[in-house]
Amino acid sequence: MPFKSLGLSERILEGVRAMGYLEPTPIQLRAIPLILAGRDVIGSAQTGTGKTAAFALPILCRLGRHEPRSRVLVLEPTRELAAQVETAFRDFARFTDLTVAVFYGGVGYGLQTDALHRGVDVIVATPGRLLDHIGRGNCRLDAVRYLILDEADRMLDMGFLPDVRRIIERCPRDRHTSLFSATIPPQIESLIHWAMRKPETIEIGARRSPAETVKHVIYPVAEAQKTDLLLELLRSVNYDSVIVFCRTKHRADRVAHLLKRSRHAVTVLHSNRTQREREQALRGFRDGRFEVLVATDIAARGLDIADVSHVINFDVPQHPEDYIHRIGRTGRAEATGDAFTIMVAEDATHVHAIERFISQKIPRVKLEKFHYQYTALFEEDKPGAKPGYPGKVRGVRLSGGYYFGHMRRRRR
Ligand code: AMP
Repeated sequence: MPFKSLGLSERILEGVRAMGYLEPTPIQLRAIPLILAGRDVIGSAQTGTGKTAAFALPILCRLGRHEPRSRVLVLEPTRELAAQVETAFRDFARFTDLTVAVFYGGVGYGLQTDALHRGVDVIVATPGRLLDHIGRGNCRLDAVRYLILDEADRMLDMGFLPDVRRIIERCPRDRHTSLFSATIPPQIESLIHWAMRKPETIEIGARRSPAETVKHVIYPVAEAQKTDLLLELLRSVNYDSVIVFCRTKHRADRVAHLLKRSRHAVTVLHSNRTQREREQALRGFRDGRFEVLVATDIAARGLDIADVSHVINFDVPQHPEDYIHRIGRTGRAEATGDAFTIMVAEDATHVHAIERFISQKIPRVKLEKFHYQYTALFEEDKPGAKPGYPGKVRGVRLSGGYYFGHMRRRRR
């Protein structure tokens, strides 16, 4: 479907053509008609989906001609995003007389104040600097008709939600509000209830939230006991099939070798293996000849391996997205599954990042019969724990202390 049939005005369509866009992206197809019709929209979408145009084009259309009072406010978590979104608005509005300005911290107030005094149709801003301008009497929001909360989950992560609420309180109640966020954690949900009116939700692309059917836990352990813990985990869990993820090919080979020596039916999958070897490994794992597949992250993306009962992260993934991909190997298609992550002290930062990414504290558990050596990780939730350990996840409710994991027994 061409842009023309979405109901955008000719001037805005000219801007779209000048940008070289030929067809609307899926989020544009769905959001543009809704926003044009005056609906509040929740876009569950990530950057790269064309979401900026999805809200900018219909809003610019509805503004019509320039007025000195600001009628659009777009809140962004970072300067870079604010600058990027301002540029997009300017590009789309280039055949109109509408004006756009951006406000963020780290630069002087002079030019920003001048722009506000002249009057701009569209304000794109980070919350802190906008509040500064409001406090200095440079800016009023009482004419705002369109409010966009972009990258809402990142604003939450960065601790901006209180500022966002203060800003919203200064906007008229009678306004249209749209919110874009890759994930919708509970805090964003309550913001939605408070700030939006009968919003329509559009979900584009994969949600970053982990499969709801997966139960995931972390096993903290001293570095020297990592492999012993893995062996003990495999002994205590009555699994059907398990993927063990390692950070490097070399580690995957080493772990596979160790498991073989302990009489596990194991195969290994990483990019140093030939296509034939990889296919054999996968086939053998799928048809049940191997019950353990040791893999690097290549196996976490794209491959359709169904019915994995357990995922064990022998190494904590370095990128939070990889955690989602890894645990997505289990709990597929409504099946239940468990995801275990073995964590040593130096993984604290990465675990912290994963927990922020999924907006959830992953419970720490201990294996009941395992003889643990001491590690400072066991102190992380106690009062006075060393800073830097993931007891300090912002915006996430912390569960206190440890509990002993109870392995779910599976029927074969
Ligand atoms: P966004 O998700 O808004 O950050 O957009 C990602 C990139 O896609 C930007 O470089 C946009 O200019 C581009 N883009 C957005 N919509 C379209 C479209 N309909 N056709 C081609 N490129 C697009």
